[in-house]
Amino acid sequence: MPRNSPIVLDPCRDPFAADAVERLAQLYGSPLLIVDAERLRERYRRLAGALPGVRLHFALKPLPHRAVVEVLRDEGASFDLATNGEVELVRRAGIAPGRCIHTHPIKRDGDIRTALAAGIDTFVVDNPDEVRKFATHRRQAGLLIRVAFRNPGAVCDLSRKFGCEPAEVMPLIELAESLDVRVRGLSFHVGSQAPDPAMHVEAIEACAGLIARAAARGTALGILDIGGGFPADYREPMLPIEPFCAPIRAALAALPRGVQPIAEPGRTIVAPAAIGLSTVMGRAKRGDRWWYYLDDGLYGSYSGRLYDHASYPIEALNGGGEPLPSVLAGPTCDSIDVIEEEIALPLLAVGDRVIGRSMGAYTWASASEFNFFPKATVLVVDRGRILDAPYSP
Ligand SMILES: *Cc1c(COP(=O)(O)O)cnc(C)c1O
Repeated sequence: MPRNSPIVLDPCRDPFAADAVERLAQLYGSPLLIVDAERLRERYRRLAGALPGVRLHFALKPLPHRAVVEVLRDEGASFDLATNGEVELVRRAGIAPGRCIHTHPIKRDGDIRTALAAGIDTFVVDNPDEVRKFATHRRQAGLLIRVAFRNPGAVCDLSRKFGCEPAEVMPLIELAESLDVRVRGLSFHVGSQAPDPAMHVEAIEACAGLIARAAARGTALGILDIGGGFPADYREPMLPIEPFCAPIRAALAALPRGVQPIAEPGRTIVAPAAIGLSTVMGRAKRGDRWWYYLDDGLYGSYSGRLYDHASYPIEALNGGGEPLPSVLAGPTCDSIDVIEEEIALPLLAVGDRVIGRSMGAYTWASASEFNFFPKATVLVVDRGRILDAPYSP
């Protein structure tokens, strides 16, 4: 049994139901990020079912929380880490280092040493300087070379900042071999919240060609890491994960024998598994519309409005009443801190609750405590219990 896990809700009820959410706010205050462990499991299982034979390394970045990691650990997930803090988090969660890879393409020597000391030995590189950093770690470490495939269609194009050109792969392999550093495979990330699987398929096909070329000159690449990018629904529904993955599965089936495919999903697992709860601190009628000031905003869980370009479905917890054009603002004194300039909400009063849906990914993770407004408290609810509870109510 996880330490410190009081039962606070009916285990059979949905923790996102209005009365359950209100009870959590009564017990733990506001703002909250409420994560449902059952939804996490369901999202993980659906992706695993849609990508059979692909080892799933959950990317901690979108929601680096210990109880989330523990729930996915118990589902059999592997993990994708990029920083010393993430290495420490999985170490404390008792995850075997063999289930982890380190995927930051740019690392300080101290980052490499920290990961190696924790037993993590697979790293990502995308340029000659980074390959040279492994000359002194050649006995322990193996490399994945990250290849860039530009994806202007993705909301967040991750191939602008990282990844080498496909033509640079062979020279990097030759450099690594000249230093006696092992190259284990290739990786790519087509960009987060991909609108369709076309880029994944194209990148897999291109990598299959690179793997065949490497094999022809005597280098066996045993891993293809297809990254993240698997979508989640926000206000606009996306392709469900099964049809999204079907063409990816077909492309992977055509890989040369002996290549183990792995993936680094983040968003698609955690985004739908959490809601944000905030509370109206005050309101004012300005012009012809009500402004509501919440205790969470753009500098908090709604930071993904800016950084992640996400538009969360937002509603009043108790949604009765005629919808009126309203403005939803965050708590800080900064004028940029407006969540929605125009949103239809019933007339709200101080103390009323507002819910943001699909808020598990890139929300709390990128929140700050600007103006000393604390970040939302994360509650991971598992069939009525709070895992990793901040305190026992
Ligand atoms: C952010 C990131 C991920 C997760 O991407 P999603 O689109 O959220 O699935 C995976 N791998 C790397 C290297 C990342 O930087």
